[in-house]
Amino acid sequence: MFDKILIANRGEIALRIIRACREMGIKSVAVHSTADSDAMHVRMADEAICIGPPPGTDSYLSVPAIISACEITGAQAIHPGYGFLSENASFVQVIEDHDLKFIGPTAQHIRTMGDKITAKDTMKKLGVPCVPGSDGGVPDLAAAKKIGAEFGYPVIVKATAGGGGRGMRVADTEADMEMAFSAARAEAKSAFGNDECYIEKYLQKPRHIEVQVFGDGKGNAVHLGERDCSLQRRHQKVFEEAPGPAITPELRAKIGKLCADAVATIDYAGAGTIEFLYEDGEFYFIEMNTRLQVEHPVTEAIYGVDLVREQIRVAAGLPMSFGQDDLEINGHAIEVRINAEKLPNFTPCPGRISQYHAPGGLGVRMDSALYDGYSIPPYYDSLIGKLIVHGRDRDEAIARLSRALGELIVDGVDTTIPLFPMLLAEPDVRSGDYNIHWLEKWLEKNLE
Ligand code: ADP
Repeated sequence: MFDKILIANRGEIALRIIRACREMGIKSVAVHSTADSDAMHVRMADEAICIGPPPGTDSYLSVPAIISACEITGAQAIHPGYGFLSENASFVQVIEDHDLKFIGPTAQHIRTMGDKITAKDTMKKLGVPCVPGSDGGVPDLAAAKKIGAEFGYPVIVKATAGGGGRGMRVADTEADMEMAFSAARAEAKSAFGNDECYIEKYLQKPRHIEVQVFGDGKGNAVHLGERDCSLQRRHQKVFEEAPGPAITPELRAKIGKLCADAVATIDYAGAGTIEFLYEDGEFYFIEMNTRLQVEHPVTEAIYGVDLVREQIRVAAGLPMSFGQDDLEINGHAIEVRINAEKLPNFTPCPGRISQYHAPGGLGVRMDSALYDGYSIPPYYDSLIGKLIVHGRDRDEAIARLSRALGELIVDGVDTTIPLFPMLLAEPDVRSGDYNIHWLEKWLEKNLE
């Protein structure tokens, strides 16, 4: 096992990883920008090293600075968290070249799944059903219009290198195609430096269902059920739950096994998420994330496992501590993402926290790096916390979430907290009857 792990991230996810390290008796090293000298992850880790100025590109994304920090501190492995360098195959290559260990899959697996066209091809070959659409990249507008006519409108133009909901545009009719195609390409070029796009049938009322998988890199893999992350704004998740209200045990077993077998076949190592759209009883693969997800705690809650601990074990060459038969669902969990953003437009709202009080009690977990007097810097993601609740069933989880939201205090900046009691009052949310378009429509009617 490693003696010391460096965490190439910040915020709540850095704390999450430090906590796992501490329980395993492993020393942790925090890295930080000059804007984060007072951040909680810096205070909580065993050691901390400043790796650059505030912009992410000069600090949390600076590979040479992170490798130097490992050499200075003697850390043997790097946990990337999510975002930043977590899905950067060349970073993994550099880590391996320095005889350090990346806590995650191989560079090859990251590369394959990071290119959405190759990912779809790979999954198709492994027997996983995909959203109907173009066979690979679409070279020009004429080809785009041909695909639109073939599959029927609406369609969605998506960046091959896409992520974070960027580089995606819907064309409702052929007349929209020119706009959608050029806008998706331009956004893809500026966000990812690669303007290649592909086209998929745009599903009208799907749920976003993602399957958590875990592999040991040696041909063994399990699934840990699904999460329903359909409540989204601008293709970004806001509220996640497990198990999915629409997924039966039979469906779960079937899609779960398909996913576990697929990753076992490719000798996948560590945590991964296979994302699907689910409509009328059918699953359609959209992408695979080769890292820990923001919403992993809902899976941890219902399966009673520590996914970060497991990632560290597998990276150290140990076997997984559970097999498929050990994994049983217990109750229901919900996570809400709390952002420092001003409603109704979700404008980022950095600033000083004058008062912070985290909720507690049975079945409540608050993952956050906030503290009284902390100043949220303006340079990074606006996620400031995740409130996760666990109950014996969905109704209990909802009641608990409602109660915990009532205890949570974040003063000094605007946050998305007020959104959630409103959502929980909605009959559709209470009954779990929603799809990926529900929240946008609700926001239009109720907020924006
Ligand atoms: P990203 O990697 O940017 O998150 P995804 O491919 O995972 O992109 O898609 C993000 C979200 O966009 C999905 O959860 C869904 O809400 C929407 N979406 C993507 N593809 C389709 C599609 N073919 N039809 C309808 N909605 C889609």
